[in-house]
Amino acid sequence: MRSPRQATHPHAGHAGFVHGATHATAYLAEPQGMDDEGGKYAVVCEHNNIVNVTSKRDARLCAIYPGNFCSDCYKRDALR
Ligand SMILES: [Zn+2]
Repeated sequence: MRSPRQATHPHAGHAGFVHGATHATAYLAEPQGMDDEGGKYAVVCEHNNIVNVTSKRDARLCAIYPGNFCSDCYKRDALR
């Protein structure tokens, strides 16, 4: 079951949607047609940088903190 917050996220209707945060969105890689070699979950930030992770928990964390895998997100978040 989706939480109301996920249901209202702009990407919530996309295939394999897992979690939407402000600057990144987590998906199941395979329904999105993305490479799942590095992990079945893929997180895409607003700069179109992608990271693969193996657990749903990591997918959510990477969506919330995209600076972990995107240097542009890192810089933006560091300037806050
Ligand atoms: Zn980014």
